[in-house]
Amino acid sequence: MQTVHALDPLRNAVADLHKAGAVALVPTMGALHEGHLTLVREAKAQAKSVVVSIFVNPLQFGANEDLDAYPRQLARDSALLETEGVDLLWAPTVEAMYPAGFASNIAVAGVSEGLCGAARPGHFDGVATVVCKLFNQVMPDVALFGEKDWQQLAVIRRMARDLDLTRPAADAVLGVPTVREADGLAMSSRNAYLSAEERQAAVALPAAMRRAIAAIEGGADVPVTLARLQADILEGGFRSIDYAELRDADDLTPLSARSDRPMRLIVAARIGPARLIDNMPVAPG
Ligand code: AMP
Repeated sequence: MQTVHALDPLRNAVADLHKAGAVALVPTMGALHEGHLTLVREAKAQAKSVVVSIFVNPLQFGANEDLDAYPRQLARDSALLETEGVDLLWAPTVEAMYPAGFASNIAVAGVSEGLCGAARPGHFDGVATVVCKLFNQVMPDVALFGEKDWQQLAVIRRMARDLDLTRPAADAVLGVPTVREADGLAMSSRNAYLSAEERQAAVALPAAMRRAIAAIEGGADVPVTLARLQADILEGGFRSIDYAELRDADDLTPLSARSDRPMRLIVAARIGPARLIDNMPVAPG
């Protein structure tokens, strides 16, 4: 596996990979876990070569968020990616990604609004801007993202469609189902912030979500079920809830009743020092 930290060597390495066949890109912020590695394995199934980026993107962190605390473990991550047979690790410095004078921004309206867009102002502008840059730097034939970040996936697909991107095209932005711990908690680099006690309590989130989904699919009133869901999460040991909503799975329209289209239950809640997000499918009724 080749590792590069600056744009010129990246361009050379990427050109070589493209000569050999299709290229898949897996963008990450590092502190890799089995969820990331599942994206890498799917990427290998999709293309001849796999590029993984590791970049803790300052643009997508708010002023009071965990940019400085976010785990950085490049040597460990690099060894994991080597074992997975990744071809190229793109680990730019902040200066390589945002040289002096950098002044552009990509804002995707609609799907960026509400949910994490409301709780984290500017977050999805930062995500869309860095992902657009990563796409232009690597020019992948396909790019893989986790369904764990459902709204992020919707934002990136919308951007790819709206800006007529071709590498990758919108339909080559692939979503991979969320990988969970044995007890059901979605894997996340931010789970490392939890104490042993908080980690045990955190399972209340997916457990309460599964109960809410069973209720909605069984015909229960949606607002009542969402209120019950919030109470369950707080009783389980979370200290606050940013949001707990039922949304259309594709365009993220808020729903107050079961729909005849695929839906998604989407939650963000805080426990100890961590803000955890999760989402699950809800069957159309
Ligand atoms: P991050 O490093 O958290 O920015 O995540 C990098 C990519 O991995 C994103 O596309 C995430 O959606 C995806 N990802 C993170 N956690 C999981 C998980 N538990 N299962 C599947 N994909 C994930």
